[in-house]
Amino acid sequence: MLGAPGAGKGTQAIKISDKFNIPQISTGDIFRKQIKNKTEIGLKAKGYIDQGMLVPDELVVDLVIARIEEDDCKNGYILDGFPRTIPQAKALDAALNQRDLKLDYVVNIEIPDENIIRRMAGRRACINCGATYHIVYTPTKVENVCDVCNGETTLRSDDKPETVYKRLEIYHEQTQPLILYYKEQSILIETDGVQDSNEIFNDIVSKLV
Ligand code: ADP
Ligand code: ADP
Ligand code: ZN
Repeated sequence: MLGAPGAGKGTQAIKISDKFNIPQISTGDIFRKQIKNKTEIGLKAKGYIDQGMLVPDELVVDLVIARIEEDDCKNGYILDGFPRTIPQAKALDAALNQRDLKLDYVVNIEIPDENIIRRMAGRRACINCGATYHIVYTPTKVENVCDVCNGETTLRSDDKPETVYKRLEIYHEQTQPLILYYKEQSILIETDGVQDSNEIFNDIVSKLV
């Protein structure tokens, strides 16, 4: 899944994961779990994430490659939030190539920056299980309480407006070039992220041929 922060990658990745019965691999979720567990990777990543910066490629790539070698990925998987830079994409291509594998599709969710700002301000995440909500579009049944696990839902520390601006800037600079990178490989699917999330999902599924 490609797209700006808040484009709806996670929301769609979960739907795709459910429909095709393949795991969703979210690097953001992996880092947040590592931070919660105070692991070495978590401690290193936290500083970058809180400042709205990308975690350095060398901290991300090995982690993802190791993850897709796990048993549950044998029939496929969906990468959510990775790759985010050209060097990450090249490292992934090389690792897959070595194993006689390749990416089948790259889904790009297109959305204007002004919609993002609105979405991020309303995003809430469960501090316990990571489930994502939106205070207007997909609220929890009880305010600030996760529907899934009853954990507390809060604004992510990197979803404050000033950090969101920084993340958007970095997205345009470092991640957006991946759109052309995958277009040139003829595996890019594009969808309009301003639609309702079910419409986006149906559009994506219809384009997976
Ligand atoms: P990403 O993983 O790309 O950062 P999320 O899936 O977390 O994006 O979505 C960002 C926020 O916008 C969340 O609060 C989510 O509930 C909400 N959201 C996701 N898709 C839509 C949509 N199509 N319309 C409105 N809100 C959405
Ligand atoms: P969003 O859903 O808003 O796009 P994520 O949950 O995917 O955000 O990621 C949160 C943060 O984790 C990013 O802002 C970045 O600091 C870090 N991160 C996640 N994936 C990567 C990656 N592939 N490369 C570098 N940093 C990453
Ligand atoms: Zn929860």
